[in-house]
Amino acid sequence: MTTYRCSICDYVYYPKNGGKDNAAEIFENLPTNWRCPGCGSRKICFVKVEKYNSMSKVE
Ligand SMILES: [Zn+2]
Repeated sequence: MTTYRCSICDYVYYPKNGGKDNAAEIFENLPTNWRCPGCGSRKICFVKVEKYNSMSKVE
C-alpha cells in the first residue's frame, strides 16, 4: 500500500483498508483543495512513502 507523509508535520496519510472500501480515500483521489489534518498544508507538501510500517517508528 502506498502512503503519503506530510513533509511539514510528518503526518502520515493512509486510507482505511488500503482504499479498497472507498477509492475516494486514496491519496491520489483526494480533492486538490484537501488539506493536511495536522498542519493544513496542501497535497503538494506530501511525499510518497513506499513502505510504511505503522507498528514501528521509522528512525
Ligand atoms: Zn502536515
